[in-house]
Amino acid sequence: MKYVLVSGGVVSGLGKGVTASSIGVILKACGLRVTSIKIDPYLNTDAGTMSPFEHGEVFVLDDGGEVDLDLGNYERFLDVTLTKDNNITTGKIYQSVIDKERKGDYLGKTVQVIPHITDAIQDWIKGVSQIPVDGKEGPADVCVIELGGTVGDIESMPFIESLRQLSYSVGPENFCLVHVSLVPVIGVVGEQKTKPTQHSVRELRALGLTPHLLVCRSYQPLLENVKEKLSQFCHVPSGNILNIHDVPNIWHVPLLLRDQKAHEAILKQLNISISKSPALEEWTERAERYDSLTTPIKIAMVGKYTGLSDSYLSVLKALSHACIVCSLKLSVEWVTSSDLEDVAAKEAPDVHAAAWKALKSAAGVLVPGGFGDRGIEGKILAAKYARENRIPYLGVCLGMQISVIEFARSVLGLEGANSTEFDEHTPHPCVIFMPEGSKTHMGSTMRLGSRKTLFQTSDCITAKLYGNVQSVEERHRHRYEVNPYMVDDLEKAGLVFVGRDESGKRMEIMEIPDHPFYVGVQFHPEFKSRPNKPSVPYLGLILAASGQLNPYLRSVGEK
Ligand code: GLN
Repeated sequence: MKYVLVSGGVVSGLGKGVTASSIGVILKACGLRVTSIKIDPYLNTDAGTMSPFEHGEVFVLDDGGEVDLDLGNYERFLDVTLTKDNNITTGKIYQSVIDKERKGDYLGKTVQVIPHITDAIQDWIKGVSQIPVDGKEGPADVCVIELGGTVGDIESMPFIESLRQLSYSVGPENFCLVHVSLVPVIGVVGEQKTKPTQHSVRELRALGLTPHLLVCRSYQPLLENVKEKLSQFCHVPSGNILNIHDVPNIWHVPLLLRDQKAHEAILKQLNISISKSPALEEWTERAERYDSLTTPIKIAMVGKYTGLSDSYLSVLKALSHACIVCSLKLSVEWVTSSDLEDVAAKEAPDVHAAAWKALKSAAGVLVPGGFGDRGIEGKILAAKYARENRIPYLGVCLGMQISVIEFARSVLGLEGANSTEFDEHTPHPCVIFMPEGSKTHMGSTMRLGSRKTLFQTSDCITAKLYGNVQSVEERHRHRYEVNPYMVDDLEKAGLVFVGRDESGKRMEIMEIPDHPFYVGVQFHPEFKSRPNKPSVPYLGLILAASGQLNPYLRSVGEK
């Protein structure tokens, strides 16, 4: 196994994940098989219990792993399916060591960070890198490891030490270190400053690791003399100093690396002889196409928006994948759901009016997944507005539950209908807790990961959009579900559950046939969206919102 380690210096948020994924892309485009590992030096076992408003979205894998959003980047960029073990956290490592200690595996020994934690990290990396993730048999050729955080953080020390030992044990021709750093511009003269990078490389060297390549992030392209200076002070050949300046969209990043021959430098370090240059035509086409899109399509996202768009990263990616296919420029109208509520009309009439104006200006409405009861009534109002005014609507997970509650209240006349998540004593529990897990432990107890949905009919929009298949597998992350005892009444009134699980008791996809596009899905289809293969429910929303749904369905029907 050949390892490419991507570390980061100076500040966080440099786009290390995108850089590491892009390195994977250019190596894959050279014909190599690539897998990846993300290391998160926090103590949480996984991202499942962390707020998306603090740390970005929780990405869900096929195997039910709740992981860092960077794994989403890897899956989308490399078109692979990762496992929960591809995300290493301090919590997981310590837990495995402590479990072994309790079992008596270290009997007689003092269990310490070095060598026990550092050995556990190396064993984990070596083991997980062997798992095939691209649908082929046998291990990949290269494993890209992204070390989260910034070099020098106390949290990442055991990982750095362990990676240093790994580099030594696998030998120089099997280990390539790429350090991502920042070159800021200071003052009126606009000089590109190399000092922060010098310091972070010094820090890395003090810990026993020498970077083979430097990736410098900057607003503008790096000047040649700045590269020379970095080369001299950081002891990295100037040909190995790469620059990722700001680009209009992330699909340019692999192209930028290829143009600077990053693949040649990495392959040389890893002693792999491949002379062909990376085949990236599809990436060039997509990056340029995205930049040239002009016809806007406005989608209202009705949720808890706090300014951190990473909280809904995969949803936004799925929307933009669908927009590229439809040749539209995505414009997201963020609507904070609580601002739509009647209480907001009294407390902050301007905010309330603005929220409704934003909602009404959109061609399609999306209610994404969520937890907790804040803003629920506002989401219900948005679902009602979309249903009554025949505006294309997609409800994802919580968004589907919301539309069932709204339908029960407005169409079945069940006053106070609700989910027991928000009102335990509701007279009409149309969404209830249906455990596959425990109610007392919050970590990893949900219905998580890939589950099968069987279509109940081929005569519905989603079955046609999915290509008239009998079943689909999508990823789940929820505790509550549509109450099976209310399904008959809901269906008689016109809300049809066109997709169900194998037992027939769990409702997976709903549609209102008497509406241009009113779809709810209990799963999160955004996690499997790919740039060249947009997630079907999202594609449906964009097609419907732009008036292209019926011609599209006719064209796929004819095929
Ligand atoms: N809170 C809801 C549930 O647990 C929805 C979850 C979600 O949207 N991911 O079922």
